[in-house]
Amino acid sequence: METEGKQLVIVGAGHAGSELAVAARQAGWAGGITLLGAEDALPYQRPPLSKAWLAGKVDAEGLLLRPRTAYESARVSLRTGVRMEAIDRAGRRIELDDGSRLDYDQLALCTGGRPRPLACPGLEPDQPCANLHYLRTMADAEAIRAQLVPGVRLVVIGGGYVGLEVAASARRLGARVTLLEAQPRVLARVAGEQVSRFYQDVHRSEGVDLRTGVQLESVEVEGGRIQALRCSDGERIPSDLVVAGLGMLVNVEAARAAGLAEAEGIPVDELSRTRDPAILAAGDCTLQFSAIYARQLRIESVPNALEQARAAASWLGGKPKPNRAVPWFWSDQYELKLQMAGLSQGHDRCVLRGDPAARSFSAFYLAGERLLAIDAVNRPADFMLAKRLLAQPCRADVGRLGDESVPLKELLTQADDAAVTGNPREVPVVATP
Ligand SMILES: Cc1cc2nc3c(=O)[nH]c(=O)nc-3n(C[C@H](O)[C@H](O)[C@H](O)COP(=O)(O)OP(=O)(O)OC[C@H]3O[C@@H](n4cnc5c(N)ncnc54)[C@H](O)[C@@H]3O)c2cc1C
Repeated sequence: METEGKQLVIVGAGHAGSELAVAARQAGWAGGITLLGAEDALPYQRPPLSKAWLAGKVDAEGLLLRPRTAYESARVSLRTGVRMEAIDRAGRRIELDDGSRLDYDQLALCTGGRPRPLACPGLEPDQPCANLHYLRTMADAEAIRAQLVPGVRLVVIGGGYVGLEVAASARRLGARVTLLEAQPRVLARVAGEQVSRFYQDVHRSEGVDLRTGVQLESVEVEGGRIQALRCSDGERIPSDLVVAGLGMLVNVEAARAAGLAEAEGIPVDELSRTRDPAILAAGDCTLQFSAIYARQLRIESVPNALEQARAAASWLGGKPKPNRAVPWFWSDQYELKLQMAGLSQGHDRCVLRGDPAARSFSAFYLAGERLLAIDAVNRPADFMLAKRLLAQPCRADVGRLGDESVPLKELLTQADDAAVTGNPREVPVVATP
């Protein structure tokens, strides 16, 4: 594609948008590049917001994805604090919240998501509550940290990765933490039972009052603050600070109005192309078909946002390189590094290698003899090997997988699809941590 004099407009200055802007230039896009972001900040990393940043181990400067000069030298015009309101596909222009319009030749939607709001009796929709927080942005994290003082009574609602990480960081800061999870176990959506149990035990041993199978019945709001939470078992939990980690809603309203998105996200192919040839999309707001898992996935992770952005850039630069990466994630809690590769949903068994009591083990998720995913706790070598092999059908020697006297590389082998028995059970769209 001849790109001289053309305009690439990228909406959303998060992980995907920032990467796409710079990668498109590197890939040879010769025209203008504008990167628009609703937040009034240079693009920054989100994962540390619940980890090192919340625990006070990294400052705001350390969060930046790139210095301002990186955008200048890539000749990217960065406009922050401005929101896209609508897409006019026929006219190839977008409308902004300051009333202006911007023409594009290529548009890229990297709009991510926002926290799912807490809906609960006692809480009026849109009622401001000074001590109720969500965690998606730097501003959210700053508001939480300002109230996270030693001895504060923090209630975390939701035992997914973000909730657990907030609980861990808060304990390190001396908060008194209660965590409420409605499911019978934490991480129920993304991890197997052994891994859930392990994390529950770790949090309890670190002093978190972690409760599973607990339904939140109502909240008591007085003076613009949540004073206490009432659970279905009748218990009343007083609170100074409440953080709700209930997952994410995709920011796809404008894309839906333009006929590009479904409620769950914007469908894209392996080059991050939407059904409109002039519009790309990347990151948390997308749905992409995975050849490895034979279904459409929404993957909420930094590596996925970067891979999709790079695939989009390769297409814009005229040397298409499809994204077929294995999904992977990580989570830091206390001194534990959890690394996950693949998707465990649909597994029919889980084999442990190593010792949870020693806080070093891997959980291998299998369908028949086919390896679907790994969760590795403080075992980076297991993670690296499995991640590499999961790019193609991978057969495991199921009977010996737990035997540490046999090197892992002798137990996992790549094979033709047809040669590996076992398929993941049908599961709906996956939205990962
Ligand atoms: C607390 C926390 C911890 C996490 N930890 C991990 C982790 O350990 N590992 C991991 O892999 N992932 C983690 N994630 C997930 C990861 O941060 C996301 O997958 C990643 O940020 C996705 O990047 P993105 O660019 O798609 O979206 P985002 O980073 O959300 O960026 C989207 C941007 O678009 C902007 N925007 C939205 N709509 C508009 C509009 N209409 N106009 C202009 N701008 C708009 C938003 O304001 C936002 O700045 C974590 C997320 C959170 C919140």
